[in-house]
Amino acid sequence: MKRYSAFAIAREAFRFHSGWERAWKSPTPKAEYDVVIVGAGGHGLATAYYLAKNHGITNVAVLEKGWLGGGNTGRNTTIIRSNYLQDESAAIFELSRTLYEGLSQDLNYNIMFSPRGVLMLAQTEHELRAWKRTAHANRLAGIESEMVTPERIKKIVPMIELNGPRYPVLGGLWQARGGTARHDAVAWGYARGASDRGVDIIQQCEVTGIDRDGGKVTGVQTSKGAIKCKQLCVVVAGSSGVLADMAGFRLPVESMALQALVSEPVKPMLDCVVMANTVHGYISQSDKGELVIGGGADGFNNYTQRGSFQHIEETVRALIETFPAISRLKQLRQWGGIVDMTGDRSPIIGKTPVEGMFINCGWGTGGFKAIPGSGWATAEMLADGNPRDLAAPFSMDRFTEGRMIDESVAAAVAH
Ligand SMILES: Cc1cc2nc3c(=O)[nH]c(=O)nc-3n(C[C@H](O)[C@H](O)[C@H](O)COP(=O)(O)OP(=O)(O)OC[C@H]3O[C@@H](n4cnc5c(N)ncnc54)[C@H](O)[C@@H]3O)c2cc1C
Repeated sequence: MKRYSAFAIAREAFRFHSGWERAWKSPTPKAEYDVVIVGAGGHGLATAYYLAKNHGITNVAVLEKGWLGGGNTGRNTTIIRSNYLQDESAAIFELSRTLYEGLSQDLNYNIMFSPRGVLMLAQTEHELRAWKRTAHANRLAGIESEMVTPERIKKIVPMIELNGPRYPVLGGLWQARGGTARHDAVAWGYARGASDRGVDIIQQCEVTGIDRDGGKVTGVQTSKGAIKCKQLCVVVAGSSGVLADMAGFRLPVESMALQALVSEPVKPMLDCVVMANTVHGYISQSDKGELVIGGGADGFNNYTQRGSFQHIEETVRALIETFPAISRLKQLRQWGGIVDMTGDRSPIIGKTPVEGMFINCGWGTGGFKAIPGSGWATAEMLADGNPRDLAAPFSMDRFTEGRMIDESVAAAVAH
């Protein structure tokens, strides 16, 4: 595949852009692969990319029922940070954040990573204590994050109202190297990199059944016919329970709609990400000028990619308390995604009761930031047939063994 470069742009400008290649191929599925990955979201594509790049395993298919990146990966609000509480999470999220820093260069694809800083407000004494604890835990884990005072917050975000009608801003947890990236570009960049290394990405190919011989996986039934495989890795976020059901086991996850919205575009007014967990909302500004606003998940299980109306109202009302300047902006678009939530708000990466079948799910409301690290760890697991250190703590057994990785504070409002 030809590399993207300033020289390539100049060259193509002189020949009416006729020389660009397709970013990824659209092959007909083969009858058999060493590894079949279900789900061409960020996690599935990153897994395929690192399988090929780090382990030389390229007889791999990624099967996608819609279009690649059309699930939560293309629907999220792109917050990237690694200031989680528990050591296991800190390890995988920090690897991810570090990989994001060099990802455009690694993929030769501009993912528009913008380390603009992420600020998590403390608006109750309880929250202040929780963030202080997280800041200390982060320091021990070697992650850069710090507590900041209300005065410093006002300097970082001049438009903030520190003394809102319900909750004053008492402090905040600030991760200066956190930020955002362009979500579609992350999916497209990994797809291009994986396809270039020989991975088959097959879109419009829904997995409808999982074939087993005794307790071992042998392949999948799809809308494009049967495909055999030695290993199967299911990476389908909100549809994880449906795929587990096809294989005959249950997962400790719940699927719910989580939604976000953007305002009309305005001139630059906010150059970092601000999360307000107590009032329940978070906000950043996209390069186009839209304010990107997200809130909580629906309080009931469902599979609609919309979300309920009252959440939009609650979220906007909450943010207007902290940012009165946005009160007269119009909403431009709203959308939802189906997130897969576990009881301890940590993901599941590991083996399943079916031999040869692996799962990566449970990223809930916060898995965009984890895509590079999760893909890296899942590729290691598939290459070895067993999870290595990074993924091992996230096995499904933790729910039967009572070995929770409790991130309900760090992941609360949730991104
Ligand atoms: C509104 C919203 C805001 C969010 N904000 C953030 C944020 O700011 N920061 C953050 O870190 N995270 C955020 N998240 C969470 C993040 O988007 C997800 O954790 C992450 O994108 C999950 O990626 P994935 O690759 O696992 O899943 P997905 O991107 O959902 O990919 C799974 C794919 O599997 C496919 N699939 C499903 N069933 C089948 C089948 N039977 N056969 C074939 N293919 C199938 C789907 O079509 C889909 O494309 C947010 C999510 C939402 C919805």
